[in-house]
Amino acid sequence: GMATGNKLRHVESLQEMPSGAGKISCLNAVILGEALASEENDLVFPSDDFARQAHVSSPQQYLEMYKRSVEDPAGFWSDIASEFYWKQKWDQPVCSENFDFRKGNISIQWFKGGLTNICYNCLDRNIESGNADKIAIYWEGNDLGVEDSLTYAQLLDRVCQLANYLKAIGVKKGDAVVIYLPMLMELPIAMLACARIGAVHSVVFAGFSSESLAQRILDCKPKVVITCNAVKRGAKAIHLKDIVDAALVDSAKNGISDFVPKYPPTCEVEWVDAEDPLFLLYTSGSTGKPKGVLHTTGGYMVYTATTFKYAFDYKPSDIYWCTADCGWITGHSYVTYGPLLNGASVVVFEGAPTYPDAGRCWDIVDKFKVTIFYTAPTLYVTRYSRKSLRVLGSVGEPINPSAWRWFFNVVGNSRCPISDTWWQTETGGFMITPLPGAWPLKPGSATFPFFGVQPVIVDEKGVEIEGECSGYLCVKSSWPGAFRTLYGDHERYETTYFKPFAGYYFTGDGCSRSNGQKIADGLHPCFRDKDGYHWLTGRVDDVINVSGHRIGTAEVESALVSHPKCAEAAVVGVEHEVKGQGIYAFITLVEGEPYSEELRKSLILTVRKQIGAFAAPDKIHWAPGLPKTRSGKIMRRILRKIASRQLDELGDTSTLAEPHVVEQLIELADR
Ligand code: ATP
Ligand code: MG
Repeated sequence: GMATGNKLRHVESLQEMPSGAGKISCLNAVILGEALASEENDLVFPSDDFARQAHVSSPQQYLEMYKRSVEDPAGFWSDIASEFYWKQKWDQPVCSENFDFRKGNISIQWFKGGLTNICYNCLDRNIESGNADKIAIYWEGNDLGVEDSLTYAQLLDRVCQLANYLKAIGVKKGDAVVIYLPMLMELPIAMLACARIGAVHSVVFAGFSSESLAQRILDCKPKVVITCNAVKRGAKAIHLKDIVDAALVDSAKNGISDFVPKYPPTCEVEWVDAEDPLFLLYTSGSTGKPKGVLHTTGGYMVYTATTFKYAFDYKPSDIYWCTADCGWITGHSYVTYGPLLNGASVVVFEGAPTYPDAGRCWDIVDKFKVTIFYTAPTLYVTRYSRKSLRVLGSVGEPINPSAWRWFFNVVGNSRCPISDTWWQTETGGFMITPLPGAWPLKPGSATFPFFGVQPVIVDEKGVEIEGECSGYLCVKSSWPGAFRTLYGDHERYETTYFKPFAGYYFTGDGCSRSNGQKIADGLHPCFRDKDGYHWLTGRVDDVINVSGHRIGTAEVESALVSHPKCAEAAVVGVEHEVKGQGIYAFITLVEGEPYSEELRKSLILTVRKQIGAFAAPDKIHWAPGLPKTRSGKIMRRILRKIASRQLDELGDTSTLAEPHVVEQLIELADR
C-alpha cells in the first residue's frame, strides 16, 4: 500500500519541482533519511505498484513534460489536440493572448480557425474507435432500486433525438439554451445536444429559486428553457416546472412544449470554430451578482480531457464517479466532458448522498465498483467496504490535513492516492493538482501546477515572490481551458480578474508555497525547505484582519479540526471594537459529544497553541450542522450574517442543501 512519511525513502528528484514563475527553479534537494523520518514528516508516497502503472510515474517524467508545456506551449498542446477530431485544423497560432490590460483588451485564443465539435469528440469518435457498446453512463436514481444506463451508442441516439428537436423548434448555432434539470441522464444529454448543434448551454442548478433562475434567463436571453415536471430530492418532491413558470413570468414567455416528441436518432454535427462559445455558467455569486463565465470549444475540450486523464490517472477499465451536480463547473468538466472525451464509464447520481441514510455514497461505490471517486471534502462515516477504489479526488474547499487523513485512511484504506484538485469555474479545469503516481503527497496540499499552468504568488503590490512564501495566487499566462469573458460584460472580466495585478490573472485565492507543515498543521518546524508544494489558504475575502494580523480562515479551521472532539469548523470575521475584526468560529462536534464550557476553552487553547494567541477565536458558536451548498461548499456569506446577527439579511438561501441548518444555528446563537 501507500507508505506514509516515516518510511525511509529517497526523493532527490523532487528538487526540481516548479515553484511557479514559469521557470523550473532548482530547489533544495529533498532527501529523507533516518534522521528526518518522524511524525512531522507528512509525505505520503504512491505505492510502487501504483506508480509503475501510472501515466506519469516519476517527478522526472512530470518535470520533462511540464518544462515542455511552458517552454513550448504550442507544440505541447497541439500534439495533444491532434488526438481529437478536427474537421479542419487551426490555421492561426495555437495560442495568442493579451494578459496585460495596459497593452489593450484582455483576449485569449486557442486553436483559432480550427473546426471541431465537442459532442462529436465525446460520442461519435469513441464509438468509431470501438466503444459503441461500452457503458457511458450508469445512472442511479434518488430512490433505491431506480437505475438506468446508456452505452455510448445509446447515448448518441438520445443526444441526437434531442438535438433534432431543438433544431425543429428553431434553436440555431450561437443561440443560448438554459437547462434547468436535476441529475437525470437528460442533463448531460441536453448539454451534449446543444453542443452538437452549436447552441450555447447554460445550466442553472435545479436548486435555484425562481428569482435566481429569472435573473439568469434575463442575463443570457435563451431561446429555450429545458426542464422537467418535478424531481424528488431525498424524501421531498420539488416542482421544477412550476418554478420555471414563475421565472418566465418575470422574464419572457413564448410557447411551451410539455414534452419532447420522438425525433430521429441521428443528427448531423454543426462544426464550430475552436473559439465559438460552448457554454456559459454562472458562478455561485457568493461575492455579488453572479458572473456569467464563458467557455469556448477547442481549448476547453483539450484541457478538460487532458486534466481528467492525468489527475485521476484514468485507464479505460476505470469506473468513475464524480458526486458534483452538472449545475456547477465540476459537473461540466468532470461529469460530462472530461470523462466522456476519454471514453470513460461515468456514474451519474440523482440524489443526495445522505438519502435514505449516510451509507448511500458507499453503497453506490460498491454497487458499480467505482475505481475513481471524486467529491467535495464533506463525507460521512461508513460501514461499507470500498475495495474497488484506486484513486480519490477532492475539490471545492481547502481540505484540511485531518480531513485528508480521514479520507485517505478510512475511505481509501490507506491505499488510494488523493488528488486534491484546485481550480475554478473560470479556469475550466484543474490548475494545481497531484498527478497521483508521480510524487509524494502532503495531506492538505494541492501540490504542483498542471501542464502549461504557471502559477505565481504575488504580494499586495503585485510583485512576484519567489521560493517559500505566501500571498495572492495569480497565473502568468493563459492555458487552453481558461474562460474568455464574462458574458456581456468584458469590462467586469478585466476589472475583476486582470486589473488587480497588472499582467496576471488573479484567482481571488490566497496561497502559500512551502513545505506546508507550518501553514496547514500549526507550528511544525519546516525541516524540508522550499519543496515548492502549494497550499491554498482560501479566498482572499476569507482572510480576517485581526489587529493588523492577516489570518486565513482555513488556517484557523485547520487548527480547530485537529482537536479530537471537533468534527468540522467554519471561521468568519466579525466586527470587533478593539481589534478591527474578531474571529468567530462555528463548531460541529463529533457525534454524541455534549457542548461544555471546558470544551470551548480547550478548542480555543488548541488554536492558541498551534497558531498563536492572536488567532484565538473570540466566539465559539455550536453548530449541529453547517450551511452548505449542494456542491458541498460552506456558505460563509450566511455564517457572516449570523455571526453579526444580521438575521434579516441572510440573502438567497435557495442553494442550501439543508435549509433547517440555518434555523438551528440561529437558535443556538447565544448558547
Ligand atoms: P463565486 O466566485 O461566485 O463566489 P465560487 O468561487 O465558490 O463562486 P467555484 O468556481 O466553483 O465558485 O469555486 C472555486 C473556488 O473554490 C476557488 O477559487 C477556491 O476558493 C475554492 N477551491 C476549489 N477547489 C479547491 C481546492 N482543492 N482547495 C482549496 N480551495 C479550493
Ligand atoms: Mg470564485
